[in-house]
Amino acid sequence: MADYDCIVLGAGVAGLTAARDLNEKGLKVLVLEGSNRIGGRVRTIDWGDNAPLEIGAELIHRTGQEVPLFWHEIRRYDLDVVDIDKPDMFDPKATFCKKAVQVYLERWRANGESGFRDGIDVIKDKPFRDGHGVIKEVELFRKGKDEPIGKFIEDDLGSPKDTSASKDAYAVADLMFTGTVHGTFENQSVVGTKTDDIYGQESSAEEYHVVGGYGKLVDGLAQGLNIIKKAKIAKVERFAKRVKVTTDAGVVYEGKSCICTFSIGMLKAAVEEGGVEFKPKFSVKRRKALESVGMGPVNKIAIEFNKRVWPENPKLSLITSPSETYRSFFFPFYNQADRPIITALIERDKAEELDKLMGKTTNRRVVNPGGSGQSYKSDDMVTEIVEQLGRMFNQSLTLADVKQYHVMAWGNEPLVRGGTSFIKYTGATHKEVKEIRRALATPDGPLHWAGEATAYRTNAYSVHGAHGSGQLAAKLVLDFLKGKPLKMPPVPRPKKRHPSFKDRK
Ligand SMILES: Cc1cc2nc3c(=O)[nH]c(=O)nc-3n(C[C@H](O)[C@H](O)[C@H](O)COP(=O)(O)OP(=O)(O)OC[C@H]3O[C@@H](n4cnc5c(N)ncnc54)[C@H](O)[C@@H]3O)c2cc1C
Repeated sequence: MADYDCIVLGAGVAGLTAARDLNEKGLKVLVLEGSNRIGGRVRTIDWGDNAPLEIGAELIHRTGQEVPLFWHEIRRYDLDVVDIDKPDMFDPKATFCKKAVQVYLERWRANGESGFRDGIDVIKDKPFRDGHGVIKEVELFRKGKDEPIGKFIEDDLGSPKDTSASKDAYAVADLMFTGTVHGTFENQSVVGTKTDDIYGQESSAEEYHVVGGYGKLVDGLAQGLNIIKKAKIAKVERFAKRVKVTTDAGVVYEGKSCICTFSIGMLKAAVEEGGVEFKPKFSVKRRKALESVGMGPVNKIAIEFNKRVWPENPKLSLITSPSETYRSFFFPFYNQADRPIITALIERDKAEELDKLMGKTTNRRVVNPGGSGQSYKSDDMVTEIVEQLGRMFNQSLTLADVKQYHVMAWGNEPLVRGGTSFIKYTGATHKEVKEIRRALATPDGPLHWAGEATAYRTNAYSVHGAHGSGQLAAKLVLDFLKGKPLKMPPVPRPKKRHPSFKDRK
């Protein structure tokens, strides 16, 4: 006899949303979470003096018009959100120029020049315009064979090896894709990038942060739910009308239905390496869909300096020079803008390097790194970032200027194993690529699926995507329990945007 109407596996945003929705419908729901905390990749920690530091998701990338159901939660849990006043990097004709003063780019062909150029100068450079335009070319890509994103860029701009202009343009394109493309240039699909509406997300008119931390959303969703922490699932067995799950401590739970919200990294992990055993094994369709999705490395390093080393505007959203190693977004510390803290979003090769540097450690806070007498491998990476920031701000900065730093290596987090999902280049057709995430979201009888990687109606790789996937899974579970036939909503058609695209060339 099943004890629960639904067992939800994982207490990230997808799992908590699904559980909350089902709970409100009067179902008997149990949430099983393997770690000792809820929130998954949303994780706000206190960084001393009541400073909430986001070591996972930080920004709401979409407006209330774009993701109304997600914004309904913001209002429901009375979250205070602030527009970060982001620079629009994607519209060279209009908004970018107006907002460009907020964006500082070091000259990538410095030749001894240092310091800033304001965006209006930068925008006049052809390599910048070309490189920056590639992301739009992806958006416009309708026909033709899929390609890895790196090849697509080279086809458009030339190889970075050819000329200094193509090198610059490639570097700017690389910069534009940083923060948006989580695979490598060799393995990320162009059609997948378009299907995932990465452009749409990044060009959203506004972005917000949650005052006091994104963790407040997690707390809101979790209210009144039956959650068992430290219940790491080792086995999931599916029968015609029930699902049996077994923890690594051998405790068994049974539900008439189940929603699994594990990350792609977790679903792909071998059983002998701490992964989960699914019985029966995944269908060919699910296996193929899983193979087509990768787990892109995304990490964060927050650095508190002894004093502020950047110019006044506390809302500044910085991008580094394309020629620098860290093609990162640097966020100010929105929650306490007057504190000299900057957060670097580390992606792709550098994020992988950080995972390796950290060994098995996920999370590290180092106070007084230049003078504490104890050194860590992560000190080297922080030193590099600090020196790079020094070049941007035209001053000499070293580790001695750092009061403390915090590193989060998501690839080492045993129940996440990476940053966010991305669609790999596999040579599949446009139609096949479009169906990948929908295939991942399609239930197998009583066993349902949610999590950012399954989000095909909102953006995957995001908190609002995880939320939307949880809501859909809850709806499908309700239909299943009522004996209704499965009806998966179709993949939405891409929206038309920015008519100014046509004018680019
Ligand atoms: C560094 C970083 C920055 C990001 N920034 C943003 C941002 O600014 N804005 C944005 O919208 N998105 C951002 N994202 C993406 C966003 O955080 C994720 O898309 C979203 O939080 C995923 O939620 P989820 O519920 O799908 O998965 P998860 O949060 O991974 O939840 C899955 C849960 O399942 C649990 N679990 C896994 N395996 C087991 C097991 N065997 N047994 C029991 N429990 C298990 C995990 O512990 C976890 O709690 C960022 C991600 C990262 C890594």
